[in-house]
Amino acid sequence: MKKTIKDFDLTDKKILIRVDFNVPIKDGKIKDDNRIKSSLETIKYAIDNNAKVILLSHLGRVKEKEDMKKLSLKPIALRLAELLNQNVKFVEETRGKKLETEIQNLKNKEVLLIENTRFEDYPDKLESKNDENLGKYWASLGDIFINDAFATCHRAHASNVGIASHIPSGIGFLVEKEVKAFEPVLNNPKKPFTVILGGAKVEDKIPIIENLVTKADHILIGGGMAYTFLKAKNYEVGKSLLDLDHLEFCQNILNKYPNKIVLPTDSINALEITEDSITHDKNIEDFMDDEIGLDIGDSTIKEFEKYIKMSKTIVWNGPLGYAEYKIFSKGTKKIAEALENVKGVKIIGGGDTGAILENLGFKDEDTHISTGGGASLELLSGKILPGIDIIDENLEK
Ligand code: AMP
Repeated sequence: MKKTIKDFDLTDKKILIRVDFNVPIKDGKIKDDNRIKSSLETIKYAIDNNAKVILLSHLGRVKEKEDMKKLSLKPIALRLAELLNQNVKFVEETRGKKLETEIQNLKNKEVLLIENTRFEDYPDKLESKNDENLGKYWASLGDIFINDAFATCHRAHASNVGIASHIPSGIGFLVEKEVKAFEPVLNNPKKPFTVILGGAKVEDKIPIIENLVTKADHILIGGGMAYTFLKAKNYEVGKSLLDLDHLEFCQNILNKYPNKIVLPTDSINALEITEDSITHDKNIEDFMDDEIGLDIGDSTIKEFEKYIKMSKTIVWNGPLGYAEYKIFSKGTKKIAEALENVKGVKIIGGGDTGAILENLGFKDEDTHISTGGGASLELLSGKILPGIDIIDENLEK
């Protein structure tokens, strides 16, 4: 068990909390503040427990000096102040005298936000390369480090692994929730265990398939990636997405696990990808040369539903069609409905999939939608997340 924020006495201490404030911002305005809201529980806990709260987060990628103009955390400090209903001090620096003085003057229950940690990436990528001195410096600003940014836990950066290497550390409520949600999937999943994979690229999902194929009872494959699997079975798939570099991988996995990998039997096809394309539900054998497969068809939905209904553990990553357009979203929507009706452990592996499902009106209290796309993919691929691995163990539990 890793230490959590609750394992520390926070009174009078300077608590450095790595949060994920990487929110979409356009023309200085925050488009979606969900990530800020997700961090509130940990921040409020630290305030309520009389800590001096110092927050660090990245925002976007800083490659050129120019990028800094658009990537200040200032608008986030203002929004956070509204959400917390208290002042948030913002320091437009990632190091230096001003930052140090502000932190020295910080009183219990006050909150300070440091400027975008990725400003340290220009020009030498100090944050992203986990520069030893930078991690040490940030650690020197606080007494305890709490990592609550699950979405970056698959990266070893100065603002997570770097700081945690130097001072006592724990995880925040958001990371704890994520870790607990994945646990029953990664360790002895209750059977039947079904994995649903969709999305565009076979390549991205290979590590998940390799890790879960022995543990899962079935892997249902839809979305753009299904057509490479169908091609591997010698079906003609017209102009559908194909990842020929990974055709051989698909052939091998199908040969090795012929009863585990479940592929579509029909496909919603169109001649072009538009919101009002004319579509046909085609049997997989009846593809025309100029057709593009853009969703799973009705027979496939029924087949997938059968597997989902009998499952006790379900993991889903990637939409089953070009779900940004309503006409190609039926498969994803129907499978989401099937998921809602199942009792068991249900996880949606973050990133695009969660956002697409939420746009389709998916609201299931019993399903965990991960806040980390890349981090959840790595967990499902059987990898250890460095941002969590470095955190102190609670030896009493
Ligand atoms: P990923 O990030 O790999 O999960 O891929 C998500 C993307 O896959 C979404 O933008 C979908 O529109 C896209 N996608 C899903 N199914 C298809 C398909 N049949 N053809 C083309 N793109 C698809």
